[in-house]
Amino acid sequence: RTLQECREAVGGQGVKTENVVGHLKGEFDVQTTFEGDNNVLMQLVSKALFAEYVSCKKRNKPFKGLGLQHMNSSRPVLPTQLTSCTLRCSQFQTNVFCLRERDLLERFTSEVAEIQGRGESKEFSFLLNHQLSEDLSKAFTEKAILQTVLDAEAKQPAGSIKDVLGRVRSMYALICLEEDPSMLRYGYLSRDNVGAVRREVSKLCGELRPHALALVTSFGIPDAFLGPIAFNWIEANAWSSV
Ligand SMILES: Cc1cc2nc3c(=O)[nH]c(=O)nc-3n(C[C@H](O)[C@H](O)[C@H](O)COP(=O)(O)OP(=O)(O)OC[C@H]3O[C@@H](n4cnc5c(N)ncnc54)[C@H](O)[C@@H]3O)c2cc1C
Repeated sequence: RTLQECREAVGGQGVKTENVVGHLKGEFDVQTTFEGDNNVLMQLVSKALFAEYVSCKKRNKPFKGLGLQHMNSSRPVLPTQLTSCTLRCSQFQTNVFCLRERDLLERFTSEVAEIQGRGESKEFSFLLNHQLSEDLSKAFTEKAILQTVLDAEAKQPAGSIKDVLGRVRSMYALICLEEDPSMLRYGYLSRDNVGAVRREVSKLCGELRPHALALVTSFGIPDAFLGPIAFNWIEANAWSSV
């Protein structure tokens, strides 16, 4: 999707072979299949979470694996009205991601148990709940990514890099919330709050724009891997360069 947006952002230049976007897109499709199709891998994530949940509940033990420790505490309560400051707060972002994961895991295990209770196999019960399983694995993955960014951010000394990282993290967290229909489907956020999330994303885009080039450069991609569009593409397309 990022590649598609890059492709579109540079118009016709994005379809020129020398700008390598098409090549990267072809590569990316293979990456999401060859070590196991992503849908299938995501089902394995839900299966692992299910096993951990059932095992802890059966033994009446606290959760300690797969980052589910947050489920040992009470459900986070989200503020009813989300301000810009709350939306950018790492504690709020962690709470909403934990709430979503916890609720989806509880729903998934309870639905599977109910179907199994009617005499169906575990596999069939999983299949019937494939949509919940998909939502759950996405919630788990996005929470893991958020946590990784928060850990990296915590290691940075106070200063401009930490500030930019914080904005990038907020942008990531809020886009995840904005684009996940389960926020409204299961009522984790109200309609008004989903609207506030959307407005904040727009504000963050404006704030991050001056840093966009520096952020891309920070990946340290060697020039040899880049196409002319990454440099002076006007000169590259001038008659004198043909
Ligand atoms: C470049 C490349 C190199 C490879 N190298 C190797 C190799 O070295 N060794 C090796 O053993 N294999 C290799 N493979 C095979 C690879 O492991 C399989 O292609 C991959 O696991 C996907 O399986 P599949 O092709 O059978 O697709 P399928 O699993 O049949 O997927 C087809 C579609 O069905 C969907 N689907 C499948 N199951 C479910 C489900 N339970 N629920 C919902 N949707 C589902 C998938 O999402 C997908 O959209 C390679 C593949 C590629 C592309």
